Order: sequence, then structure tokens, then C-alpha cells
Amino acid sequence: MRKIKIAFFDAKDYDKNSFLKASENREFEIKYYETRLTEATCRLAEGCDAVCVFVNDDINAKVIDALVEMNVKLIALRCAGYNNVDVKYAYQKIHIVRVPAYSPYAVAEHAIALLLTSIRRIHKAYIRTKDFNFSLNGLTGFDLHGKTVGVVGTGKIGRIFIDICRGFGMQVIAYDKFPANDSGIEYVSLEELWERSDIISFHCPLTDENYHMVDAASIGKMKKGVVLINTSRGALIDAEALVEGIKQRKIGAACLDVYEEESNVFFHDYSNHIVDDDTLARLISMPNVIVTSHQAFLTEEALTNIADTTLANVVEFFEREYSRNEVCYKCPEVNNCKQEHDKKCF
Ligand code: NAD
Repeated sequence: MRKIKIAFFDAKDYDKNSFLKASENREFEIKYYETRLTEATCRLAEGCDAVCVFVNDDINAKVIDALVEMNVKLIALRCAGYNNVDVKYAYQKIHIVRVPAYSPYAVAEHAIALLLTSIRRIHKAYIRTKDFNFSLNGLTGFDLHGKTVGVVGTGKIGRIFIDICRGFGMQVIAYDKFPANDSGIEYVSLEELWERSDIISFHCPLTDENYHMVDAASIGKMKKGVVLINTSRGALIDAEALVEGIKQRKIGAACLDVYEEESNVFFHDYSNHIVDDDTLARLISMPNVIVTSHQAFLTEEALTNIADTTLANVVEFFEREYSRNEVCYKCPEVNNCKQEHDKKCF
């Protein structure tokens, strides 16, 4: 049987380890490239049946045209979000599959890890005790019990995050464009969520309509001292407005696993470089900001699931004419299609 050829972009060691394990002695020929998929690099996919990409590969119209011209049939996203793909342009040109869930626990637990680290000043205490400084001055935190957390997006990750918060004795309110009526979750308008929440955590996809949903205007409506957690997509938050909100002492803390300009820096070691991004540098310099570099997904369980599901998607597409995890721009338009397909989208 002919092997399915896959050009694997933005490959990191941890990706290779999990995909090598999942593809061992199977029907795949995978070429791993450290570079991202861009207009300049897409020729590396020549002769391949599929490309495998991650969150910061830029699959714009030109890249799609080039892939189609090379007869590449499938874009296999090894992530859940697909805001980096021009899905509308791809429609009826090239198919797209994704990994809708690999470990929602990984992301929800990371959001909680960031929250606890931030409000209990663990990041500060860690550095102090490493230097045998056992002073407690400046490390005062606050109890989560009894606080109100506003959750934006109550899908797989949002709901796990909510369950954990309830375990802490927090009061949960939520906003979702498509509320789940059977969930027992108290849904409120975004306005009310901004006004009532002590902590706000984002678990919705990035779309045109929620780009910069946190801006100067929404920050203005929030409680003084609010803690923002973003493990979703960076551009939900206007980073400059965030800096301003922190400088004005309106925002008490920010926990960021994603950043709107992350594709230029995240996943790379710039420890010996001067970072050009002044907004990111300012955020990192602030004692009440914690940045992790899109790490929330990174658990053993998630990496195994990502590799298994991505390869299963590829097999389904090429051999079984079945694309359960297909992404197409029609999906959100047609009755809020939940992408539980039993056939290809076109
Ligand atoms: P999901 O599809 O299960 O849930 C998303 C929820 O957001 C749904 O309930 C949907 O109705 C809601 N939603 C859609 N548009 C909205 C809007 N404009 N405003 C408010 N809610 C809206 O997705 P999930 O698996 O829970 O993942 C959520 C997001 O987390 C993903 O879109 C992705 O951006 C992000 N993510 C980040 C990481 C990471 O490593 N940091 C990993 C996986 C996913």
C-alpha cells in the first residue's frame, strides 16, 4: 500500500517524539520541518498528500493556492483552534481537519495553575527561597473561596475550568455565544460578566467578532483588581489596553498563556536576544503578569492524543472517506454545526 506522505511543519522535539511513536510501522511517511508553513516554505510540501500544522503556521489564501497547486489534499491541524487558517478561502479547494479535543483538562488545569501562582505570588516566593530569602513581605494573596469567576466560553475546556472553580467554592457566571441550557451554569451578558467578576477566564475561540473583546472600553467596566486569565487566543485581548489597565491599577493581575503577537516569539529561545516587542517586554516586566508561551496543552496525555487523533484524521480522510473532525467555514453558519460529520464537507 502506498504510504501517505505528510509534510510536518513547525516540528518541535516533543512533537516528533509523540508522532514517531504513533506512526511507527504504519502507513505514513512523515517529513519533519522545523520551519513554519508560510508562503516562503510551502514548497517543502511538494509531493506530499497532506501538511500537518500547528497554531502559528499561517495558512492564508496564498499558502492555500500553493498547496492546491502542488496537489496537497489535506491540511491536518494538530490543534483545536483554526483561526490561523483562511477557512472560507479553503472551502471547496482543500480539506481541513483538526484535533477538537486532546486534553481539555491540560488547558483548564494550566489556567488554574496560572491563577494560583499569580494570586498566591508563587512565582515571587520561588525566586526568593532559591536565594534563601524567607521574607513574606509583598506576598499577601487572597482566597479564591467566595470569589466570582466569569468564564467566557463554556465548551470542553470552559466547563472543566468551571468544575474546578466550583471545587474551590467560587461562584461561577459565564458568557457563551451558544449557551448550554442544560448545564446549570448561570449565563449572563458580557457586560454583566465584566462588571461582576473578580476573575475572568477566556475559553472561547478567536473569531472576527470577538477580536479584542478585552479593550479599553471593556476594561473600564471591570472591577478594580480583576484578574484576567487567557489560555485561549491572544487577540481576544488588546495587549496595549491591558498594559494601560495594569498601569492604572485597574487590572490586578494577568495570566497569559497566549499573546496576540506570539507567533513572532513563542516557542523559541530568545534568552540571548533583545526582544523587539515592547508591549510583551512591558508585560513581562510587571510583577503581576505571568506569561507562559502557549504551554497549556503541553502534557503527556495531550501530546499522545494529538498524535493519535491527527493520524486517525488523516487515515479517515484518505482511506475511509470520513472526516469526523473536518473544519469548514459553513459549519458555524449551518445551525451551529458541531462538526460531528459523517462525511466530507464538500
Ligand atoms: P469548544 O469548542 O469545546 O468550546 C468553545 C466554546 O466557546 C463553545 O461553547 C462556543 O459556543 C463558545 N463560543 C464560540 N464563539 C464565542 C464567542 N464569540 N463568545 C463566547 N463564546 C463563544 O473549545 P475548547 O476545546 O473548550 O477550546 C476553547 C479554546 O481554547 C480554543 O478555541 C482554543 O483557542 C483554546 N485552546 C488553547 C490551548 C492552549 O494550549 N493554550 C489549547 C487548546 C485550546
